[in-house]
Amino acid sequence: MKFVSTGGQSPAADLRAALTAGLAPDGGLYLPERIDPIDTSLLAELNGQSFSAVSRAVAGHLLGSLIPAADLDRIVDTALNFEVPLVAQGDDVHLLELFHGPTLAFKDVGARFMAQLLGYLGTEGGDPLTILAATSGDTGSAVAQAFLGVPGLGTVILFPKGKVTDLQERQFTTLGGNVRVLEVDGTFDDCQRLVKSAFSDPLLSDAIRLSSANSINIGRLLPQIFYYVHAAAQLPRGPAPIFSVPSGNFGNLTAGLMAKKLGVATRGFVAATNVNDVVPEYLLSGVLSPRPSIPTISNAMDVGDPSNFARILALYEGGLDRLRKDLVGSVHNDDETRDCIAQVYERTGYVLDPHSAVGYLGVEAGRRAFGEGPCVALCTAHPVKFREAVEPVVGSEVPVPERLAACLQAERHVTSIPTEMSALRDFLLAV
Ligand SMILES: *Cc1c(COP(=O)(O)O)cnc(C)c1O
Repeated sequence: MKFVSTGGQSPAADLRAALTAGLAPDGGLYLPERIDPIDTSLLAELNGQSFSAVSRAVAGHLLGSLIPAADLDRIVDTALNFEVPLVAQGDDVHLLELFHGPTLAFKDVGARFMAQLLGYLGTEGGDPLTILAATSGDTGSAVAQAFLGVPGLGTVILFPKGKVTDLQERQFTTLGGNVRVLEVDGTFDDCQRLVKSAFSDPLLSDAIRLSSANSINIGRLLPQIFYYVHAAAQLPRGPAPIFSVPSGNFGNLTAGLMAKKLGVATRGFVAATNVNDVVPEYLLSGVLSPRPSIPTISNAMDVGDPSNFARILALYEGGLDRLRKDLVGSVHNDDETRDCIAQVYERTGYVLDPHSAVGYLGVEAGRRAFGEGPCVALCTAHPVKFREAVEPVVGSEVPVPERLAACLQAERHVTSIPTEMSALRDFLLAV
């Protein structure tokens, strides 16, 4: 199995090359060269099985020709050592809780699997690899946690000083070990610019091997397929479900469309967004107009130019009519999102975070487009991660789960740097 670029200009890459490169040389994103359906009898056997059992089976189907089964099982078990419960909410709506990993957000799934794969495959010459990541808050903790303690790998996280919440900052600054954290005296854009400059800095490339762990990496996308298969396998026998996916960069939804190619039965998908709605707009007009993002309370989805869109087009070979048969858009502003959190809480006592609420709101558009039947709304974050937005709406405190409370007490390890490239270079070369 090789991986091909959506740009169509780069040669196919093997798994290790695709993982360490992130972006293909032609600027495109990697996809598996083919996605074969899973044997239907194997799919049927997965009914009711645990998330890790389903994940092992799907990983084996996708990567079994590249990695021996026992090793792959170990990678899956180490990375995905938490449950992904499907919680019935009445009215044939089921919530797929993707936030039971160490940082309480669904990015744990992708980041942890990618970290274990990279640790297993290593680099071409066996050199140590430094993962460089800029964060505006949440990705930093998922990446840092995922790479913590993986042999042969080190992580350097850059964040803008004073611009992430205390809880977010503590989640990555208290880890220590092979996770080093730089507090940049600037904005998130400065952090991103520094990371980009580091990748093209000749003085650095002579001395150390750098890689990124951003959301476009194929190693983060593949494991997201697992939970779609898992969700379908948890549902009672009957009509196939709709999946409503709260989306920003559209990695999550791309994985869903890949799961369909693997043979997961579905009536269709909903691209549920906040007012950053370039993809829902594209589905209506056929024109993609990327633009600067607008800040919302579901800020992990504030994306004005979603990078995985190229993958969606590649999966459908540019056929908008075929894409429209599988995918409908649904757009929700902050007021609707708050109302949804309040109503669901009042009706059932369940507390949605703002991202999950956008997914929940998408169910209605899904029903209109694909008809009645079971609906799975993907829940991407624990409400405590966005408690500033959630608590005023539900009128009570969201309790902090124990594993987060622990890091509030732990010691912070952080180095401050100015926004100059020379400062980042000196830090990286000093090791
Ligand atoms: C990243 C993120 C999303 C968006 O996921 P994409 O794969 O980028 O569409 C949604 N919710 C939360 C909480 C996230 O962190």
